[in-house]
Amino acid sequence: MSRRKLVAANWKMNGSRTANAAWLTQFAQERPPCETVVCAPFVYLAQVVAGLTGDVAAGGQDLSRHEPGAHTGEVAGEMLLDIGCRWVIVGHSERRAQCGETDAVVAAKARRALGLGLRPIVCIGETLAERDAGNTLEVIKSQVAAILSACSVAELGRGAIAYEPVWAIGTGNPATGEHATAAARAIRAALKHAGLDAEAIPVLYGGSVSARSVAEFAQADGIDGALVGGASLDPDEFAAVVRAFA
Ligand code: PEP
Repeated sequence: MSRRKLVAANWKMNGSRTANAAWLTQFAQERPPCETVVCAPFVYLAQVVAGLTGDVAAGGQDLSRHEPGAHTGEVAGEMLLDIGCRWVIVGHSERRAQCGETDAVVAAKARRALGLGLRPIVCIGETLAERDAGNTLEVIKSQVAAILSACSVAELGRGAIAYEPVWAIGTGNPATGEHATAAARAIRAALKHAGLDAEAIPVLYGGSVSARSVAEFAQADGIDGALVGGASLDPDEFAAVVRAFA
């Protein structure tokens, strides 16, 4: 079965109005062959929404698990939708590690996004210690189970799962295609077990994807796209990654 392909840029905490404008002007020359999303810092999302062309969508890098109200410093999913975002990254490993987001928090955020009609890219993946202990597939299974405990399986099909081994993020050392395929297989087995049409949900690979490394993942069985951090800051390199998923 041929699944939809999806490539998302995660600018992380990078950008400025001037740099973003240059990026958007350069990327506007592209006609992406697959679904493409640009996830920018909150304060720049309106600029990104206005500057993207064609079907390229904007996304947040996080959302609050709460409804709008007394949550200083948080950004509600309603606000992302209000300014034109269609996607949101949920449970990125940097938020898990730096902001203390647990599996339960990640699951609550995914549920909130889906309830609002925002499409979540839910991130999962093992740490180096977990990989070295031979626990990769167990970690994947338990992270997927946590998401499924909070979200309706049918709804989850509107989003995507990003498999991002923590040891590959920002290191310049991506996983192998074979490792990513094994992870994707474990993710789909867990989803199927819960009754989801697992063949319909895109599984992305993330972790040091670049123009140089992307071919391995574009060819990997079960991988339907990429979540791209560092390499997405250069519009030409990001375009090369997107083109690989034609
Ligand atoms: C990410 O931010 O999700 C990511 C995969 O980063 P990088 O591509 O820089 O490893």
